[in-house]
Amino acid sequence: MAAPDGPILIVGAGGIGAPAALALGHAGVRRLCIVDDDRVELGNLHRQILFDEGDVGTDKLASLRRALVRRFPALEVALRPGRALPDTALELCEGAAVVIDATDNFASRFLLADAAHLVGVPIVHAAAVRWQATVLAVAAAGRPCYRCLFEDVPGGVLVDCATAGVAGPVCGVSGALAAERALDLCLGRAPGTILTYDGERDRLREVPVAPRRDCPLCGAQPTIGSLDAARYMPPACEASY
Ligand SMILES: [Zn+2]
Repeated sequence: MAAPDGPILIVGAGGIGAPAALALGHAGVRRLCIVDDDRVELGNLHRQILFDEGDVGTDKLASLRRALVRRFPALEVALRPGRALPDTALELCEGAAVVIDATDNFASRFLLADAAHLVGVPIVHAAAVRWQATVLAVAAAGRPCYRCLFEDVPGGVLVDCATAGVAGPVCGVSGALAAERALDLCLGRAPGTILTYDGERDRLREVPVAPRRDCPLCGAQPTIGSLDAARYMPPACEASY
């Protein structure tokens, strides 16, 4: 395949980001940029497939780059320590060929959805919890977007993989599907569907998503024109990606 102009930006180097990076390396992608602020933990190794016990306690980004470059010597892996935040997200997304949202909380997902839309970069949102994985690909400033589906950052107690648990192989499925959809977007294909995977029933479905006319990001009269920090609640937990 033709190499995309900019790097593929992966936000989150954990259970979804690592298998996505591995799949993209095998697909021949030449440039990745990976964002994370965490260290490798023993309890996460079941889903973070490029790390082993020798990596526990080390910087996740450095360990991931080591694992990738060992397999793909020609792969350029830029590292961005930290989290995507309202004052950095636009700059992070700008120039990327595609953004892969492999984060673990709604605040980060909405932030990246808005940032990618505002700078005109396609984005893949990939999630996994328990036995369920979902992957939504959005074209550059395209419709439907993440806010067409979920509208806004939810309040209250949220179910995430830190509290609900997640099956390691389901993270792998989510990461592989995210990589596949990222390659689709690099080739200009945006199906306007969400992929859902049910690991208990081994069922993969592709479900159409309808654009919302009143979507605040991609609708007829958008109201989101900048990244106002007040719009993004803090993460519900500090679970690792
Ligand atoms: Zn929308």
